[in-house]
Amino acid sequence: MKTILTGIRANSVLTLGNYLGALLPMVRLSNKYSNEYNINIFVPDLHSIISEVDGDLQENIIRTLKYYLVAGLKINENVHIYRQSHVPAHSELCWILNCNATMGEMGRMTQYKEKSEGKASANVGVFDYPVLMAADILLHDADYVPLGEDQFQHIELTRNVAERFNHRYGEVFTVPVETAKQVEFMGVEKPIRVRDLVNPEKKMSKSTASENSKIMLDDTPEKAAKKIMSATTDSFSDVQFDFETRPGISNLLYIEALLTDTPLTEVVEKWQGETRYGELKKQVAESVSGMLSEFQAKLSAISDEEVLELFTEGEKYANEVANKKLLAVQKAVHLR
Ligand code: ATP
Ligand code: MG
Repeated sequence: MKTILTGIRANSVLTLGNYLGALLPMVRLSNKYSNEYNINIFVPDLHSIISEVDGDLQENIIRTLKYYLVAGLKINENVHIYRQSHVPAHSELCWILNCNATMGEMGRMTQYKEKSEGKASANVGVFDYPVLMAADILLHDADYVPLGEDQFQHIELTRNVAERFNHRYGEVFTVPVETAKQVEFMGVEKPIRVRDLVNPEKKMSKSTASENSKIMLDDTPEKAAKKIMSATTDSFSDVQFDFETRPGISNLLYIEALLTDTPLTEVVEKWQGETRYGELKKQVAESVSGMLSEFQAKLSAISDEEVLELFTEGEKYANEVANKKLLAVQKAVHLR
């Protein structure tokens, strides 16, 4: 059986961008394919500590998994849920892959450049985490890795490292499919990228310092509505969809389409030419706050125990699969 694998760092509460770009699409894929694919959903807790953890890491880990359940994830025997640090083979494979990745290719990673801003004080984890990500994927022979657009470069890196390793040591790894096909598989036209509400040229990120830039999944519906109402737009006189010239207003149309599960063209058609930006903002604010109230009510109904049980089962499975693959790698490089 082929494998679909995904994860979301648990360094803080998630944003609306994570929800629309990663959680929802993954839950839809999983529910659609869990009879014919292995579905691996893991919480990359080792990735979480490359930046400052906001809140308590254990709480964040449990909450992150609850998010999937709230978003509608259905569990069956093919759905495996685990914490990365509970499967030690991930770190060990990361080391071996480090010796098969180059400084040059790693230095070109956009996420690294953005997160380190060239500072000498940036930690090595920020530089190296794409290799750990490659290990996460390759240990489980994942073909599909549904992630947001910002992570595509890391999937390409994973493919390069896997091909290099296979060439050097023999066919050990399944090379995940190329990113264009990943997008196709996710059933979306383009990778999803929700923008920052204050600086709509950038993507919305949970680690952005500015509060008004991002909607957090634990924002009260009122607070979230206010953030939408004060989102940066433009000084044109009417609503048009164009991310290049009007990223702010386009982002609001985009969020509305994703939240209401309506084709973007339909939303654009409805609002195109509207001269009162406030009207569109009010509509989006309503969609966002409605989604949050429902989401938060469901979240509070899931117990920690339920989540911990899923982890225990998933980690047993993940360790078995990962240890087997790790041994094959160790043999290939003559460590065994
Ligand atoms: P950080 O600032 O800590 O990097 P992040 O918001 O970028 O946080 P990640 O943990 O890096 O979140 O990514 C989790 C998942 O969410 C990934 O699949 C990523 O592609 C997706 N994602 C992140 N931001 C967005 C966004 N603005 N729009 C769509 N998807 C997103
Ligand atoms: Mg990120």
